[in-house]
Amino acid sequence: MSKQNPPASPWSFRIASVSGIPVRIHVTFLLLVVWAIVVAQSSPEGMRLAVLLPFVFLSVVLHELGHALTAKQFGIGTRDITLYPIGGVAMLTGRPKPVQEFWIAIAGPLVNVVIALVAGFVLFLTKGELPHIFVPLTKHSVLEGIFVVNVILPLFNMVPAFPMDGGRVFRSLLAMRMEPAKATQIAAAVGQSLAVLFGLLGIFFGNLILVLIAVFVFLGAGQEAQSAVGLSLIEGRRVADAMMTRFRTVSGGQTLAEVSQMLLEGSQQDFPVCYEDVPHGILTREALIRGMAQRGENDYVAGHMLREFSKLSPYDSLEAAMQIFSQGDRSPILVMDGDRIVGMLTIENLYEFMMLQQARATG
Ligand SMILES: [Zn+2]
Repeated sequence: MSKQNPPASPWSFRIASVSGIPVRIHVTFLLLVVWAIVVAQSSPEGMRLAVLLPFVFLSVVLHELGHALTAKQFGIGTRDITLYPIGGVAMLTGRPKPVQEFWIAIAGPLVNVVIALVAGFVLFLTKGELPHIFVPLTKHSVLEGIFVVNVILPLFNMVPAFPMDGGRVFRSLLAMRMEPAKATQIAAAVGQSLAVLFGLLGIFFGNLILVLIAVFVFLGAGQEAQSAVGLSLIEGRRVADAMMTRFRTVSGGQTLAEVSQMLLEGSQQDFPVCYEDVPHGILTREALIRGMAQRGENDYVAGHMLREFSKLSPYDSLEAAMQIFSQGDRSPILVMDGDRIVGMLTIENLYEFMMLQQARATG
């Protein structure tokens, strides 16, 4: 009835599962596959690149697994690993402590270093020399390509800019010495400065990929800084501190007309549907309006309520609530003591609470 697992990223589908962690492919990744098929037919060099591509993405998946499996060692779960055309993302479900974040962030690039060492060793034994990493990939054999990619990937990832691994390593090192929110702000500022530099270099040398990476890093760093400030405002606070305790509930046997009257009378927009304080669903304003338009106002609440809703206890952290809202579910969270409802937390509540905290901090 209630939601147990947060929803996976939309527009992606699962291709495999490693150690209980789903590996997903984003639909935009298919563009890359189409591109590979096109270049494979255009020239022998294109064919080489297309053959190398699966190995590149295997390297990326192993890199992400490096993050995810290290997180697992610390008891932190991974919701999924999603592959995008520009790389992979391992979405952790908890927030690691600074020392843990250091090891989780560095584990990904280390995986590539190990692959590069193995490939390099084999190449050195068979050819007596290592390929040059600045030679275009089309000039290399597959094994040489694997070596080059796994040398470049960790170098690129260790640039100290969010949302790249180097940025996380940098943040974790700062966070061992100062408040986490402050550490994130400094790391994000450094990341954004580097992004501007990349952008300018990209424009100067006419390198479009560098410009795209710069934009990606700039936006990612801004997002990290913002969420760190938000998190610092709710850190250590419980759901009970921010939840609404005065709200009205309805019963499944009431009509939509009755609830629409309640909607107009007060500021409450979503109504828990309860039987003796035990909620069975929630009638959101959207569901009410849709129900009235489709079935008329004399229809019953029970036929239109959402039967799936998020639940938390008053003692849960507000970070848990933030995580639920940030996953795209914007309907209220019902706060439960056992199976009885004791409060309700909306996204507006959470924002109000954060604004008040900020006012207290600056006032
Ligand atoms: Zn990584």
